Amino acid sequence: MKTLIAILCLCAVANGADKPNIIFILADDIGYGDFSCYGATKIKTPNVDRLAKQGRRFTDAHSPAAVCTPTRYAFMTGEYAFRKQGTGILPGIAGLIIEPGRVTVPSMLKQAGYTTGVVGKWHLGLGTTPTDYNTEIKPGPLEIGFDYAWLLPATGDRTPCVWVENHRVVNLDPKDPIKLDYSVKRGEPRSFVNGIPRIGEQVGGKAALWKDDEMADLLGTKAIAFIEKNKSKPFFLYFCTHDIHVPRVPHKRFRGTSQAGIRGDNVHSFDATIGRVMDALDKLKLADNTLLIVTSDNGGVLDTNGPDEVNAGTVETNNGHPHNGVLRAGKGSPYEGGTRVPFIARWPGHIPTGDSGALICHVDMLASFAALTGQKLIEAAGPDSFNVLPALLGGKTGREYLVEQGGILSFRKGVWKLIPAGAGGGKGKKAGKRAPATTELYNLADDLSETKNIAAQHPDIVKEMSTKLEEIKSKGRSRP
Ligand code: CA
Repeated sequence: MKTLIAILCLCAVANGADKPNIIFILADDIGYGDFSCYGATKIKTPNVDRLAKQGRRFTDAHSPAAVCTPTRYAFMTGEYAFRKQGTGILPGIAGLIIEPGRVTVPSMLKQAGYTTGVVGKWHLGLGTTPTDYNTEIKPGPLEIGFDYAWLLPATGDRTPCVWVENHRVVNLDPKDPIKLDYSVKRGEPRSFVNGIPRIGEQVGGKAALWKDDEMADLLGTKAIAFIEKNKSKPFFLYFCTHDIHVPRVPHKRFRGTSQAGIRGDNVHSFDATIGRVMDALDKLKLADNTLLIVTSDNGGVLDTNGPDEVNAGTVETNNGHPHNGVLRAGKGSPYEGGTRVPFIARWPGHIPTGDSGALICHVDMLASFAALTGQKLIEAAGPDSFNVLPALLGGKTGREYLVEQGGILSFRKGVWKLIPAGAGGGKGKKAGKRAPATTELYNLADDLSETKNIAAQHPDIVKEMSTKLEEIKSKGRSRP
């Protein structure tokens, strides 16, 4: 009898009847050193730390790019964003940049029987350019595989400052239509919404305006509502927090709680949201059957935050907290600080606890979730998505190589990091964000901070890696 039960159980898994829920939580601008389980001392993240203890903490996981939009594009499609024009940081009036009909993480999981939802920051464009927020807004997430969407359309630092649920702006008064003007040039005075400077002027939509200090709580509530509603069937939740992107407006209960300025307080707010999601999973008895991933869309940065800083052209301070740990540079950069991000995966009983040094990337989630749910990807799908499920489940090896997109393209292979020569090094806020004047090569095994350029000592490795990078660029795909 015992044998029979065992056989039946194996069949159930093979048929995919026992599919885990998948929750992918994507933080915004949280760096490699921002959680205490990744070394922070001036910021305390007890909830993320608890997750790391119960799951696997990756130390060589990467966002596909060093800024928002291309990372999100690559996660969703399994295609490096550099292959597609128009995948840079989008204004709030940009149309959808993912063509309906192509295989995406949600459309693939829907095929596998999942109910799919997105809550939070979208920043992949909505409708057609320029987006009309006063009507049915499509195509959007519902046209590329999601069953439900509660969206912050672009980013908090740009208009429109309203929520979109499925195809409509929430609480929009038709007598007060939204008009957006993105003709204001960079450097000119920005428009203000809720007293905070934003990119792009917004007129109208007053009743629909979000409240900045309630954003994190509201998004957590929407995410948990989706989980509760779909608790009895397999679901996929793509939960993109606004924390900790500028404007950093954490709720007052978090203000002054860290020793790393308002940026640190905002990480505390993020950590509280993770705690809420974990508690909800416990309460609903879903924790054991849920693959829960927490990661970030790019490295950390000190930024212009409130109106005073925007007007003065200065950046915030954070009391010397190393937001990207020992990594060089940060958001926007081709150095490791640009794309090496925290990545924690928990699935009790399936993912062994501990650390993993496997090289993995968000672009791999399409192929990995396909493998997890027994789906075979068509040839055209996810051209750069590697199946790193074995690494997620505790195996030692991830990808053999990876293109890192930080303004220019750098390349990883094993311990080696190549940054091809390009124009200038960037000045001021842009320092470290551009390609170096001469080609750089680092051995990350003994120089994780990328301080000793050893390109001249290893012309053979430079040549081999340059050739491989060019081949990946010209071939249009890299998936094995
Ligand atoms: Ca970001």
